[in-house]
Amino acid sequence: MSYAFNHLDLIKEALKRTPFGLITDVDGTISPTAPTPQQAKVSPLCRQYLSTLCHHLALVAVISGRPATEVRDMIRIDGMIFIGNHGLERWVKGHSEFPQNVQDYSRVIKSAIKELTPLLSIEGISIEDKGITATIHYRLCGEPQLAEKEIMHAIEASSKASSLRIIRQRMAIDLLPPVKGNKGTAILDLIQGYNLQGGIYLGDDVTDIDAFRAIHTACRDFNFQGFAIGILSPEMPENLTAEVDFTLNGVNDVERFLKWMSQEALESS
Ligand SMILES: [Mg+2]
Repeated sequence: MSYAFNHLDLIKEALKRTPFGLITDVDGTISPTAPTPQQAKVSPLCRQYLSTLCHHLALVAVISGRPATEVRDMIRIDGMIFIGNHGLERWVKGHSEFPQNVQDYSRVIKSAIKELTPLLSIEGISIEDKGITATIHYRLCGEPQLAEKEIMHAIEASSKASSLRIIRQRMAIDLLPPVKGNKGTAILDLIQGYNLQGGIYLGDDVTDIDAFRAIHTACRDFNFQGFAIGILSPEMPENLTAEVDFTLNGVNDVERFLKWMSQEALESS
C-alpha cells in the first residue's frame, strides 16, 4: 500500500502545476466520525490549513453527502466551494443550485420518508430529510447489520423509496434521485470549469470512489496530473485501496498532510 507520506516528491511535482485544485470529502476525512451527523465537527487544524490553502490554490472545494448549506455551516471559509448531496447541489453566492431535473425530487423524497416511517420503531434508526435526498442512519442501533437488512426490506416494500437511487454507505443508506450525477461528475465539472492542470482528492467512503475514478479519468483524458488519496479506517469499503493512488491513516494524518501542503504552497508562492 502506498502511504502518501512516502511519496511526497511525486505529490510535490503535481503541486507545481497551475491552476491546481484541492477537493475533499468531509465526514471521516476532515471531520472525525461521530455517533450522529449533528455531533460531527470539522477538525480545527484541517479548517486552518484549508483556509491557508484557499489563498494559494486556484480551487479548494469540499464535497459531501450532506446538504450544501450544512457543509457551508460546518466549514465557513470564504472563497471555498461547497458541494452537497453527493454532487447534486452546489452552494453559489449565498444560495443552493440544483440541476433542473433534480429539484422536483424533494416531494418524492418526502413521500418516501413517510412510507419508511415504520422503521423508526427500531431503536437507533433515524431518517434525515436532506431536501433532494434522504439518509437513513443506523450507527446507533444495537445490531447494525440486522438494522441494515430491515431498512433494505422496507425500501423494497415502499413504492416511492424503491423508485429512488439507493447507496449503501457506512452505517447509513442514502436515497437519491435516479438521475446521473455523483461526486465524480461534480469533480469533472470542477476540473473543466477551473481548467485545473493538477489536483488532489481526499475521501474515505463508498461515494468517494466515483471521485477517485474521476481524478483518474482526468489524468487520462485531459492535460491534468493528480492523485486520489484514500483515508483508511476500520469502516472503510473493501475496494477503497484498489481505487486510490495513496493512503492516509485517519483524520489526524489528513491534518498533517494539509499542513505539509500549505507549507509547500506558501514556499512556492
Ligand atoms: Mg466521508
